[in-house]
Amino acid sequence: MDKEYILSQFQVQKEHLLVSELRKVKNRIKALKLLQKNIRLMEDEICDALKLDLNKSKTEAYMSEIGLVLSEISYMIKHCKKFAKVKRVHTPLAQFASKSYVMPCPYGSVLIISPWNYPFMLSIEPLVDAISAGNSVILKPSETSINVSNVIAKLIEKTFPPEQVFVVQGGREKCSFLLDLDFDYIFFTGSMRVGKIVLQKAAEKYIPVTLELGGKSPCIVDETANIELAAKRIVFGKFLNCGQTCVAPDYIYCSSKIKDKLIRELEKQIVLQYSDNPINNEDYPKMINKKQFDANTRLINEKNVIFGGKHSEEKLKIEPTLLNSTFDSEEMQEEIFGPILPIVTFENLDEVVKKVNSFNKPLALYCFSSSKKNQDKIMTECDFGGGCVNDTIIHIATSNMGFGGLKSSGIGSYHGKKGFETFTNYKSIVNKKTWIDLPMRYQPYTKAKHKMIKMFLK
Ligand code: NAD
Repeated sequence: MDKEYILSQFQVQKEHLLVSELRKVKNRIKALKLLQKNIRLMEDEICDALKLDLNKSKTEAYMSEIGLVLSEISYMIKHCKKFAKVKRVHTPLAQFASKSYVMPCPYGSVLIISPWNYPFMLSIEPLVDAISAGNSVILKPSETSINVSNVIAKLIEKTFPPEQVFVVQGGREKCSFLLDLDFDYIFFTGSMRVGKIVLQKAAEKYIPVTLELGGKSPCIVDETANIELAAKRIVFGKFLNCGQTCVAPDYIYCSSKIKDKLIRELEKQIVLQYSDNPINNEDYPKMINKKQFDANTRLINEKNVIFGGKHSEEKLKIEPTLLNSTFDSEEMQEEIFGPILPIVTFENLDEVVKKVNSFNKPLALYCFSSSKKNQDKIMTECDFGGGCVNDTIIHIATSNMGFGGLKSSGIGSYHGKKGFETFTNYKSIVNKKTWIDLPMRYQPYTKAKHKMIKMFLK
């Protein structure tokens, strides 16, 4: 697809927006229903592509990608009409006589850029929110998860007219080209490095953005935690998609008193959930490519491995691996994004809060504790985007709460109502009556007018 063609499609979307029937709420819902139907029809094809790109099993593909998208669509079909309604608000007496209201309007043309790790969910879920809010979309899926990107292109072509949604495939160069166009909103999911480029490009044209980024998400385990259950849930959240999950626990930060017990339970759970030979486990996902494989295996050495560590270059698979680490270790310097789980220890919770808050604000934070006091301390005193108490990653699997980070882990949020709001420009409007015109605001000012203004504005 050449740049001239992309540009002409972009212009078609822009022109069409002003007169489009597609903005009408009933047509948004119609489009969502068709998308729902086509996803169900193409479920096997989507699963096959996820298997090819990441070796995701059917269950994992449905649980962490297709199912989440379908439930977001169901939520929007149910709530979109209510969210799109004009809302009357109270008018201050000083503006008598008038009525005030907030009118939700689509931003217009939206650019959505997505990554490769949950390539279906992270492309289609923001698309669902953008369509619910009445926008047109150019979607740029990742060039790295090419099989899924091809299926997405097919699904979109089958579901939407190009003046409503249009897919542009390609990598960095195509993405840079798109970022030079005058979109009304940019929604980006990906790395901190590229997020910064997106923000800089958007700033040139004052384009509002949402950035869904990453970082190192801590998993804190104190001495009061139910260690068996903690281990089970940490292993689930960390090794799902072979650790290539933006909200995966990046490292365990545990009390030194329970470290040995926790390691024993983690080892037990890794074997229970992934067998004693994960490399040969057909349902265990693989690293997306050699680059990511190398970036992770580089962190493993004889001195730091507690458990696991074997890998197969041919299969691009790495065993779930536990590392003995300190905050100075190499694996503790950047987001890991693979099945490597460093373990560092603490002596008290004040130290934990201080340490966590001294790093970039994480996208997620997990706290395993049976003490309400400790849970509250961690949840209120540490800064992070979202998280769980006594579990991992499940806070993203709901349309009833927003999902996003802060500062380097992201700007803004989506999912459910938050998603609708993200893609909506709320116009605040006062409709003033003409049968009366209070004189106090007009010059020439007098003592009486001054007194009246002070009476109204206090
Ligand atoms: P990435 O930033 O390399 O790529 C994301 C998108 O940006 C891709 O579509 C790519 O084509 C495009 N891109 C890459 N380089 C570009 C450039 N120089 N200019 C313009 N566009 C460019 O990210 P990735 O490797 O695909 O994904 C992994 C990262 O995404 C991790 O850091 C992870 O934490 C983060 N992530 C965040 C979330 C979230 O919801 N917060 C979800 C998944 C992944």
